[in-house]
Amino acid sequence: MPTPRQQARITWLKGADFPCEQFPEPQSPPRHLVLLGAPGIGKGTQAELLARKFGACQLSTGDVFRIAKRAPEEEKTPAIREALQYMKAGKLVPDSTVVALVEERKSCLRCSTGFLLDGFPRTVFQAGELDRILRQEQLTLDAVLSYDLAEDKILERVNGRRVCATCKISYHLTDHPPKVAGVCDRCGGPLYQREDDRPEAVHVRMETYLQSTEPLIDYYQRKGLLVHIECGDTPPVTFARTMAALKIKA
Ligand code: ADP
Repeated sequence: MPTPRQQARITWLKGADFPCEQFPEPQSPPRHLVLLGAPGIGKGTQAELLARKFGACQLSTGDVFRIAKRAPEEEKTPAIREALQYMKAGKLVPDSTVVALVEERKSCLRCSTGFLLDGFPRTVFQAGELDRILRQEQLTLDAVLSYDLAEDKILERVNGRRVCATCKISYHLTDHPPKVAGVCDRCGGPLYQREDDRPEAVHVRMETYLQSTEPLIDYYQRKGLLVHIECGDTPPVTFARTMAALKIKA
């Protein structure tokens, strides 16, 4: 059973055969934003805060794969099974699979509430494909937010990250622990460490980020869309910086 938050972006999470029944309040003007940042930097948390502020959906490709992972084996297509193997190892899923998945969810890009793309694009090829899809849909990006933090600090964050299996919110063992160890404060669900947050996979994800995703910073800089946001502080401070960068009151 999807949670209410998932229900509000069910088309994104499950595909075009699952029309959304609940929409967040549309904002004017709708924002069309891309979020970039190394794994574990806290980009997902910022996406959630932005989603609440703007009423737009957090379109996370990682979430799509995590939902697909929980589906019964017989519902998994060969492409999804292959994608999940890459994900487990911390590697990037092939561009063709990810682009097909986004293409199938184009209606989410057209949504009147705008969008917050989180985790896509991840390669220059994917960025080109996103440009193509947006052109077809007569949409343009407003900004690309690049969340920045030194690598050792990122590793500390990832090592301590625990996620609620039910409602997906994140905790940190020392910086943001739950009231009862291993139990979500909000919904009582069990907390777990993501498979790709284990040290072996984190190392691969960092390398992949540097090789495949950092070139996107140049790509969007050249297009005049890039906004750098330092995120060494708490999530609310980073959020206030994001709002300031977008010249909006938090
Ligand atoms: P992170 O916490 O590393 O930012 P995500 O939740 O965005 O991770 O994604 C988890 C995993 O899903 C990635 O490590 C990768 O295997 C896969 N994935 C998600 N988005 C993409 C993408 N755009 N291109 C390729 N692989 C992706």
